[in-house]
Amino acid sequence: MALIVQKYGGTSVANVERIRAVAERVAKFKMLGHQVVVVLSAMSGETNRLIALAKGIQAQPDPRELDMLVSTGEQVTIALLAMALKDLGLKAKSYTGAQVRILTDNAFTKARILSIDEASMRADLDSGHVVVVAGFQGVDEQGNITTLGRGGSDTTGVALAAALKADECQIYTDVDGVYTTDPRIVPEARRLKTITFEEMLEMASLGSKVLQIRSVEFAGKYKVKLRVLSSFQDEGDGTLITFEENDSMEQAIISGIDLNRH
Ligand code: ADP
Ligand code: ASP
Ligand code: MG
Repeated sequence: MALIVQKYGGTSVANVERIRAVAERVAKFKMLGHQVVVVLSAMSGETNRLIALAKGIQAQPDPRELDMLVSTGEQVTIALLAMALKDLGLKAKSYTGAQVRILTDNAFTKARILSIDEASMRADLDSGHVVVVAGFQGVDEQGNITTLGRGGSDTTGVALAAALKADECQIYTDVDGVYTTDPRIVPEARRLKTITFEEMLEMASLGSKVLQIRSVEFAGKYKVKLRVLSSFQDEGDGTLITFEENDSMEQAIISGIDLNRH
């Protein structure tokens, strides 16, 4: 039995069908006897929609209120996934960042995680529940809702995996792994079976959004076993982020693209 953290990005939870597909994948892992913590993004486009609403009111939205607003996107998907899991006969509970006490500093819109209280999640896991946590958000000492910066659900996933000492953190997205460069822009890009943590960090710092840079830093610091996979495929090992050069089965030739398509 393993403890697995699975993070699903916006396109992976874009609508009710996709959310059901996530529930079915989670059910497969539960059936194999694993404990599963799921971290979700908002439905794709939702965070942008909320930011646009805010800008319709204030040209430069108040950061505290902006975090209050944009954190709602993830609250929708976690509740829907918990329902979909229950519909499949599984035990599941959804939690906001504040509820699992992902404590952050008070740097609204770009907060940093300070600590995570993993005891209650562990109790849920031990009683057979799938724990579904809202990505991208936390709470500061004063109880204000904070967010972790665009793409921050990756960091929630890795941070939870570190706190729970999970066996693996799986990042499910709309591509089947990490490529030499963005496969949507460069069709010749090659998928990598493995990539070292340093190479991944370099790629993230060059602007690739496949993983938020903070999540890669976190994985390096806490030695989290991290894998990028597609939620649109049933097969495939994706890309494993490794810690030693020797682990690398093929040498990555990275040509990072300085693009940030948010
Ligand atoms: P999610 O919503 O699942 O978090 P993102 O859109 O944030 O997904 O990240 C996945 C996207 O990252 C892919 O659709 C792809 O276009 C882009 N991308 C950029 N660089 C790379 C790369 N080197 N390998 C794979 N995908 C990349
Ligand atoms: N929903 C947030 C965003 O769009 C966080 C995430 O998807 O990782 O940036
Ligand atoms: Mg992302």
